[in-house]
Amino acid sequence: MRVFQCAVMGSGGVGKSAITVRFINGSYLEWYDPTNRKQFSVDGQPCLLEILDTAGIDQYLTLNDMFIRESEGFVLVFSLCQRDTFEEVIRTYEAIQRIKLPEGGRTVPIVIVGNKADLLDEREVDSTEGEKLASGWNCSYYETSARTATNIIPVFEDIVRQLRKN
Ligand code: GDP
Ligand code: MG
Repeated sequence: MRVFQCAVMGSGGVGKSAITVRFINGSYLEWYDPTNRKQFSVDGQPCLLEILDTAGIDQYLTLNDMFIRESEGFVLVFSLCQRDTFEEVIRTYEAIQRIKLPEGGRTVPIVIVGNKADLLDEREVDSTEGEKLASGWNCSYYETSARTATNIIPVFEDIVRQLRKN
C-alpha cells in the first residue's frame, strides 16, 4: 500500500485541527495525536495518508520551512470569515514554491480550502475569489465546514489523487 505525507497549513484559528480531526476520527473538536494517519480508499485503491497538522507555526518561519521540506502534498486552509487568512495562503503558497521547485521542477500537489462555510453571515471571502486564486495556480478549491463535515473527505481524496500522479 502506498504511503503519502501531507501537511495542513494556514493561519491560526482557521480550522486546521478541526478539519484534520474530522477527517481522521469523523468527530468535531476532540483531542487527538498530532501525528495523524488514516488508511482509506480513493478510486478503489487503498492508501495510507499521514497528515501533519502544523499547529501554531505562524511565528516560526524556519519550522514552517522544515514542514514544507518534509511533506509531499499541501492542504492550504483559510477561513472564509477572515480575509487576512486568505492572504496568508498566498504567502504560504510562495514559500512552498520557493522550497519545493528546486527539488525537481515538478508540480507540487496542493489543495486550497476555504473553511467555516457554515458561517454564512460572517463571510468575508466570496467563492469566486477562492476559485480564482486556486485556478490561477492550477489547484483545486473546496469550501468546507469541519463543524458540519461538509466537503472534508473530497479534500483528502483530491490530494491523494495528485500525490499518486506525482
Ligand atoms: P487551527 O488553529 O487552524 O488548528 O484551528 P482550530 O481547528 O483549532 O479551530 C479554531 C476555532 O474555529 C475553534 O474554535 C473551532 O471550533 C472553530 N472552527 C473550526 N472549524 C470550523 C468550522 O468549519 N465551522 C465553524 N463554525 N467553526 C469552526
Ligand atoms: Mg490547530
